[in-house]
Amino acid sequence: MLDQNTLAPFKSALRGELITPEDPAYEEARKVYNGMINKRPRLIARCTDVADVIEAVNFARQHKLLVSVRSGGHNAGGLGICDDGLVIDLSRIRYTHVDPEAMTVRVGGGCVWGDVDHATHAFGLAVPTGIISTTGVGGLALGGGIGHLTRKCGLTIDNILAVDMVLADGRFVTASERHHADLYWAIRGGGGNFGVVTSFLFKAHPIHTDYAGPMLWDLDRAADILAWYREFLPKAHDEINGFFAFLTVPPGPPFPEHLHNKKMCGVVWCCTGAAPEEALAPVRKAFPPTLDFVGPIPHPAVQSMFDPIYPPGLQWYWKADFINEISDEAIRLHVKNGTKLPTMHSTMHLYPVDGAASRVGKSDTPWSYRDAKWAEVIVGVDPDPAKKDTITRWARDYFDDLHPHSAGGAYVNFMMEEGEDRVRATYRDSYHRLAVIKARYDPDNFFRVNQNIRPH
Ligand SMILES: Cc1cc2nc3c(=O)[nH]c(=O)nc-3n(C[C@H](O)[C@H](O)[C@H](O)COP(=O)(O)OP(=O)(O)OC[C@H]3O[C@@H](n4cnc5c(N)ncnc54)[C@H](O)[C@@H]3O)c2cc1C
Repeated sequence: MLDQNTLAPFKSALRGELITPEDPAYEEARKVYNGMINKRPRLIARCTDVADVIEAVNFARQHKLLVSVRSGGHNAGGLGICDDGLVIDLSRIRYTHVDPEAMTVRVGGGCVWGDVDHATHAFGLAVPTGIISTTGVGGLALGGGIGHLTRKCGLTIDNILAVDMVLADGRFVTASERHHADLYWAIRGGGGNFGVVTSFLFKAHPIHTDYAGPMLWDLDRAADILAWYREFLPKAHDEINGFFAFLTVPPGPPFPEHLHNKKMCGVVWCCTGAAPEEALAPVRKAFPPTLDFVGPIPHPAVQSMFDPIYPPGLQWYWKADFINEISDEAIRLHVKNGTKLPTMHSTMHLYPVDGAASRVGKSDTPWSYRDAKWAEVIVGVDPDPAKKDTITRWARDYFDDLHPHSAGGAYVNFMMEEGEDRVRATYRDSYHRLAVIKARYDPDNFFRVNQNIRPH
């Protein structure tokens, strides 16, 4: 029982807030990005610094509370929050510090990626991240990190130089190549299994303005575009990044009215090198796009391009896989399912994970699909809870058709709660090493609200 006598000392030891179900702030504080998730924690500790995080970890351990760690709250399965436990909410630990000479950025554990893009852009720098700027740094960076710069700069995990973290026993450590090298290896893909990361040190790259945006075609060209794309992209220079998508044109500016609500296929490009027009000229010639919004654009604008379409609170159902090759049969199945998008927000993306990401050694990080070419994600999305079954069914059917054509596992950050077999299929050979490190740093599986690795 957590009575007032137990809670009062914890509350007064925190600089941040301790929110309980009786507080007016509770209903808002327990919400996460995916409106399909509805969990009711017993306590939410909104930490403001490392001392608060240590306090929260120790309190939860002493009182045997289930713990979840929340950064941006974007996780598909809602793994930033838990039922009946303590949420360690990092959203107040939000600072950035750019070192332009060292080309690094120090980032508080509760930042969102827009904070990082904003801070680094002033120095003509960027860190490879995801494609929506409201996503939390914590979850994305610890699970992998796929986005517009993957082919040029690698995954986000390939750009983590060090982290500060609070372990399950309340100790504070730095993990880097020189300190706790085993932990440094594990956190670059092993997710939130090993402790609470209170700050990240990232390597940044000289990137300021991209040649980027969507190129869209009518659905009757989908098979041709996908067949062209599967040949073109793997052979293209690392500075050419483009993810294939089935999508619906949003009903508003800047899109021309005659395309509003039209289902289409497309590639969202992000080119960072010299002469990008030349690289994209062949596709413009062979398949003149119905809509071509590709041009010079500041990097933070590319990073936040999709933010207005996907505000918090929509219903999301995710399915994902890694892909080695896109066969003719896979194209047929993509066209069959992708042309049946059930709602305006639903979509399918094929994100490239080759280029620089594929040249990192297979055992250098836990990411075990360095040989895969794409990370596929199928997401049924809609604002209306009544459409939950429709979007879920569509995503599952699409996945069931394509899964036999996949590499087996999926990117952990594109998965809902799908069970241990799926987590093992994702980490493959890395799973055992992760489990041994988990046993060293978290033998009681204190951090288990995540894509869980069991201590071994
Ligand atoms: C709209 C949308 C777009 C996305 N686009 C991309 C994309 O382009 N590329 C991509 O790679 N992913 C993308 N994702 C997936 C994203 O990487 C995951 O949802 C990720 O979990 C989000 O991180 P978060 O911090 O916001 O999540 P939260 O829900 O806050 O946390 C999720 C989990 O991460 C762990 N965690 C978070 N912060 C910490 C921390 N500081 N210390 C320890 N553990 C922590 C915890 O285990 C927690 O359970 C997208 C997700 C959404 C919803």
